[in-house]
Amino acid sequence: MPPSNRSPTATAANGTDDPSTPSAVLHRHLHHRPLRITSSHGLYLTTSTGQRILDATSGAAVTSLGHGNPRVQSAMVAQMNQVSYCHSLFFSTTAAEDLCAELIRGTDGAMARALIVSSGSEAMEGAMKLARQYWVERGEGARRTGFVAREGSYHGVTLGALAVGGHVLRKEKFAPLLGVEVGRVGRCDAYRGMREGEGEGEYVGRLARELEEELRRVGPETVCAFVAEPVVGAATGCVPAVPGYFKAIREVCDKYGILLILDEVMCGMGRCGTLHAWQQEGIVPDIQTIGKGLGSGYSPVAGLLMNQRVVDALDRGTGAFTHGQTYQGHPIACAAALETQKILQEEKLVDNVREMGLVLEKLLKEGLEDHPHIGNIRGKGLFWGIEFVQDKATKAPFEPSEAISAGIHEKGMEEKYSISLYPGSGTADGRKGDHIMVCPPFIVTPADIEEIVRITVKVIEDFFQERAGNK
Ligand code: PMP
Repeated sequence: MPPSNRSPTATAANGTDDPSTPSAVLHRHLHHRPLRITSSHGLYLTTSTGQRILDATSGAAVTSLGHGNPRVQSAMVAQMNQVSYCHSLFFSTTAAEDLCAELIRGTDGAMARALIVSSGSEAMEGAMKLARQYWVERGEGARRTGFVAREGSYHGVTLGALAVGGHVLRKEKFAPLLGVEVGRVGRCDAYRGMREGEGEGEYVGRLARELEEELRRVGPETVCAFVAEPVVGAATGCVPAVPGYFKAIREVCDKYGILLILDEVMCGMGRCGTLHAWQQEGIVPDIQTIGKGLGSGYSPVAGLLMNQRVVDALDRGTGAFTHGQTYQGHPIACAAALETQKILQEEKLVDNVREMGLVLEKLLKEGLEDHPHIGNIRGKGLFWGIEFVQDKATKAPFEPSEAISAGIHEKGMEEKYSISLYPGSGTADGRKGDHIMVCPPFIVTPADIEEIVRITVKVIEDFFQERAGNK
């Protein structure tokens, strides 16, 4: 959620920011109002007053199939008519079984089991607990309780996920975070992190050494897992690691026997051009989280995948993961996700992500690279971030009080642009920095991409021109 120091103003006719509405507590960060959406189709959301908004961010990298897909809708209704709920500790459904089998198939057998939950935060919480239980079953549970994670990362809202996350703005109010021990290393970010004259190989070597030094500092025998997003999403805005980084990190984890948890809640399920982002890194995680695009937003659904090493450890105990939730493996959520995954394959949408991603990259760079307040445009597949700077030469970010990314988001919402761009801050030091994310649904055509980029460029140009005029 974008931070903003702007105070909310009048309620719009199509808005819901009346302080007496039950959800108003969630919306006070907005300059004006959250628009009330009454219908959605394809790439578009329509408000109660008829404003048609181009959803260029798929919500938050969620609606990979776009809105109103009749196949997913029918699959969900059929499931509802068949079995709407049963408790996953005692029962199973074909929807849940088929989805888990499909997910394991999608890893080419690299992962061995899947567990379906309702949100990315729950998936991360589950992944962290699974890593802890791995060591319990191996007889090292008492000492291997800590995690090492990265700065500028986001792993969810729950206290454990917040603790491993490095998104300062989202966690600072809630410290101390229930005593989860977390060592911290820097992020891998070519634009912000690479030194003058440093090659990619040297940078990777430096970051791998940093991880090793941090492990030695906290005591590697106290660490159960290292946690990272393959392509960082909400915290810093679609930042891929430099080539070779994850191989080097995997080697360090292996050297100390530490599990590798990859959080693919945002960057996974096809978003970066392969079903899983790690499939481009030449490594396999021990535990992986998925969410968002898994069910394309038709149902709240997320999951965790684990490899055979983790399953073998569980088998040393009862074979069961001590983690039963009421809505785990929910039949309707599983039906939505299964149909989404079938469509992804049948319509070769991940191939489209790769192809359209190249078009998006080219057009974004052509349209925006020379802009004096754009420092960096980066991403993978249909997952692109645009980072704003005050000064292109020094890369100095804007002051948080200017709320640049929130302002750009709000400008996009104006009637004449009507585009949703996902804003974020925290680029430079965890407090400062601004970016927006452009991550359209996988069904986009070249004409859709042209439209998205044309409006995005206009929003950014007009925003900064007006800002200069107001100074
Ligand atoms: N991990 C990552 C990488 C995410 O981007 C998010 C959500 N933005 C989460 C975890 C948490 O997911 P959810 O909001 O579904 O709880």
